[in-house]
Amino acid sequence: MNILILGSGGREHALAWAVKQNPKCDRLIVAPGNAGIAQIAECASLDILNGRDVVRFCEENAIDFVIVGPEAPLAAGVADATRAAGILTFGPSAEAARLEASKGFTKEICDACNAPTAGYARFTEAQAAKDYIRRVGAPLVVKADGLAAGKGVIMGMTEAEALAGIDEIFGGAFGDAGAEVVIEEFMEGEEASFFILSDGKTALPIGTAQDHKRVGDGDTGPNTGGMGAYSPAPVLTDAIAQAALDEIVLPTIREMARRGTPYQGVLYAGLMIRDGKARLVEYNCRFGDPECQVLMLRLGAQALDLLQACAEERLAEMQVNWAEDHALTVVMAAKGYPGAYEKGSEIRGLAALPEDSRNMVFHAGTAACDGALIATGGRVLNVTARGETLAEAQARAYAMVDAIDWPGGFCRRDIGWRAL
Ligand code: AMP
Repeated sequence: MNILILGSGGREHALAWAVKQNPKCDRLIVAPGNAGIAQIAECASLDILNGRDVVRFCEENAIDFVIVGPEAPLAAGVADATRAAGILTFGPSAEAARLEASKGFTKEICDACNAPTAGYARFTEAQAAKDYIRRVGAPLVVKADGLAAGKGVIMGMTEAEALAGIDEIFGGAFGDAGAEVVIEEFMEGEEASFFILSDGKTALPIGTAQDHKRVGDGDTGPNTGGMGAYSPAPVLTDAIAQAALDEIVLPTIREMARRGTPYQGVLYAGLMIRDGKARLVEYNCRFGDPECQVLMLRLGAQALDLLQACAEERLAEMQVNWAEDHALTVVMAAKGYPGAYEKGSEIRGLAALPEDSRNMVFHAGTAACDGALIATGGRVLNVTARGETLAEAQARAYAMVDAIDWPGGFCRRDIGWRAL
């Protein structure tokens, strides 16, 4: 099989690494890729938001299977374009990807299938939104409806913060994504991520994880794209996961099919867990980054069989073969992230890390420059390890972190603390 993966982050490095383990994979191209991906696959420059360009590239390179990593090409209809051209594709249609691209749409689906989630109201005008906030009172969560790279969610712990959120969103801080606002009840509890493959009919859970959004140890400081993750997430017990599947995920998949827009791809349900019950915070229509890194390290080569079966609508015949183990990833970021950070600092010591199939350093924002590895992004490396226990995975990941010589970088030292 000739396989094309779209994307350039740690998530795509992890997908490429898992796909590459599978003997079915003949040729692997990642567009645009990064310096770490270039060590295991061909990297190609391609406008991954342009469906026609992607189709042409697939035809020129005899691609049999396309795996779409990030949300932007999905929302732009790239999976529709490749599927229409007869190319096997992993990733939902633009219509189905509205489960991530429109928070209001997700609420509508939850209403239609009675899925437990936060109470909410939708607004297209600032005045009406502010009147509602004053009437209901804080705490509330104010969200731009559309895709805002994870930044369009404002915690209104006080009425003033919620009102300021309305000004920010309707003031244009998120462009078109902020043409509509969703105001939600603030949910308390512990968050966890639940990953499910859906071929439109069958739902196959492929693991749980927990992310660390805040930049600082002890969950302090500003929000980030994610500073580390581990899998499985013990807070999502089998019983809670089963209930979330029955009450949230399966009804969503049925409702999407009923509307003639079946969901095909990975459905990432962000859940809030309290008193043994899960409520939906949000859906994402792609793997989480860095959650994908821990899932792929645990799944290994079978990931390709699962993604292929998902795209071929054969999930009913599949099962996941779990090793009874744990994986943990530590994100190393450029100093200053998530604020302004320096680009171009050199990273040393990766090549000297001992070979161990339970360890992997996935690259997120790196480039090769005159034989040196340099940091090109905010989140730069995902230092990932598996172990028989979470503590063992954590110890192994931090041992690698300590062996990496990168004075321009930093990481959290407490990834995994909730479960440990
Ligand atoms: P979202 O992009 O909708 O997942 O929101 C980003 C983050 O904001 C979530 O991961 C939660 O930590 C938080 N959040 C979103 N909605 C709520 C809510 N209704 N109650 C409490 N926290 C929330």
